[in-house]
Amino acid sequence: MGRIFFIRQESYDQAAINEAVRRAFDHFGGVSSFIGKGERVLLKVNLVSGHEVNRRVTTDPAIVRAVAGLVLETGATPFIADSPGIDGFKSAAEKAGFMDIARELGIECKELTDPVDLPAREGADFRRIQVSRYVLEADKVISLPKLKTHGQMYLTMGVKNLFGCIPGRLKAGWHYNVGLNREKFASLLLDIYLGVRPCFTILDGVTGMHGDGPTSGDPYDFGIIGACVDALTMDFHLCRMLGGRLEDYPLYMAAKRRGLPQCELDDSDVEGDITASHVFPGVKLPKTRSMRLLPHLPFIDRMMTSRPVHIPELCIGCGRCAAVCAAGALRHENKHLYFDYGKCIRCYCCHEMCPVKAIKFKESGLLRLVNFFTR
Ligand code: SF4
Ligand code: SF4
Repeated sequence: MGRIFFIRQESYDQAAINEAVRRAFDHFGGVSSFIGKGERVLLKVNLVSGHEVNRRVTTDPAIVRAVAGLVLETGATPFIADSPGIDGFKSAAEKAGFMDIARELGIECKELTDPVDLPAREGADFRRIQVSRYVLEADKVISLPKLKTHGQMYLTMGVKNLFGCIPGRLKAGWHYNVGLNREKFASLLLDIYLGVRPCFTILDGVTGMHGDGPTSGDPYDFGIIGACVDALTMDFHLCRMLGGRLEDYPLYMAAKRRGLPQCELDDSDVEGDITASHVFPGVKLPKTRSMRLLPHLPFIDRMMTSRPVHIPELCIGCGRCAAVCAAGALRHENKHLYFDYGKCIRCYCCHEMCPVKAIKFKESGLLRLVNFFTR
């Protein structure tokens, strides 16, 4: 049995999604081989911030509804949960369609609050990570990520989805603590993922996002649902299938440095309607940083990353970008943004939280040169 199962799925028609999700679980022995009667099961969606469903930023409600329905069939109690970066939870969950599901099925839709220490694991890089107590109190976690590109981390899929287990603004604190080093941030993501260890992952890749993800890119019809027990292996395979290079993927480089066995990719691990050699055509990946050259030093990292720039004609002056900047590198005044690039840690939270795509990435001359000669 392959470790990753992909199902071709071209639309969010609820009946078709229900069937696809059931097929995904059945490939691994059925939902009851993961979930027991009476268990509380946290469905970790990708909420990010308040976005309408058709922006394709958040996990599609059809997938969440299908998984919640299957969990209910086992006699367990599912609840939908996440912690958005900036917006109020209820309004964000309402926009994403999660509150409707909660009302329909009579289940909870909870904000991940109340930070407690994630028990430290052997070999972890980060000893004191705080996640919501609801994550640790759940009997099981099922992760429901969206397939998207990501300005800072190249891609966001199964592993990155667990970053939302850190409550609210604590996430911005981690961006600031880790600073410019993407591999270090990726290592933090590994520690969260390995600590939370979802029992199953269902990836929403029916329509995901490419280009300036995770919130300002363009929809891309990947036409797949991915299922796996180990999201790390799935993420690495998908990086290649999207036309990306593993050495440009900070998560892969961090896992490789730590000697994780998932870095040895085996094509026979991929089963279902597409194979490991499948390549999605024309996927626009972020032009962020080549991970293969030069050591991690702040001035090199700054030169080798794109910087955020303002598009004044699109700006509505909401100030969300400056409010989310943990580095104090951005000031907003009357629809004008003032960046302090010396302080900027290239976390791109400002870009991620802008509701109207008024912040873009700009490559440095050196990065353009390096990318030109290494692509
Ligand atoms: S300006 Fe933007 S990219 Fe730079 S540190 Fe602030 S939020 Fe992050
Ligand atoms: S750039 Fe975006 S987030 Fe910042 S003030 Fe303008 S519209 Fe708001």
